[in-house]
Amino acid sequence: MSIVKKAIKPVEVLVIAGKTKRVTVKYPYQEPILSPEFRGSIEINPEKCIGCGACVNACPPNALEMIESQDKKTLRYYVGRCIFCWRCIDVCPVGAIKGTRNFELATNDPLDLYTYIVHSKAECSSCGNKVETVKMRKYIMQKSPITENYVNKCPDCRKKSFINAISTRKVGFHGE
Ligand code: SF4
Ligand code: SF4
Repeated sequence: MSIVKKAIKPVEVLVIAGKTKRVTVKYPYQEPILSPEFRGSIEINPEKCIGCGACVNACPPNALEMIESQDKKTLRYYVGRCIFCWRCIDVCPVGAIKGTRNFELATNDPLDLYTYIVHSKAECSSCGNKVETVKMRKYIMQKSPITENYVNKCPDCRKKSFINAISTRKVGFHGE
């Protein structure tokens, strides 16, 4: 059966409406009816956020952006672009993002639609470049077995040091 044949006829809608009575509320004078699964805007806890950027990579409409400068990384959330999918919540490694049921976003000042979380960057002990945030370094230290010597480098220098370390290691062969 085609979708057109399955579609409900206007007269059937009237019959259903007659049986169920009114199903709307006088919003905004009354609280709107939201389903338990309803998803609204997100909130980011600046204390928990480590500035890793995972949420930025996962955000489909680019409502989350990481703005880079020499010494800072700034996570920007623009709720005007958010589609309330909550993918960012799923990928945040430290649980810094919380979903809310807020959908009322009207404001007289467009700047109210932006949230900023500013992070300081840590310097690489080898090349002096600043790539990761200070909090990201602390997180790597806690979560991985690598030494402080590696952690204090930028990702590129860390990779070079590691390759250098394994390439200078003597490799023995069975039977030699
Ligand atoms: S809820 Fe979805 S659209 Fe909104 S910031 Fe998170 S990932 Fe982006
Ligand atoms: S994923 Fe979480 S910790 Fe990483 S930048 Fe986004 S909010 Fe911050």
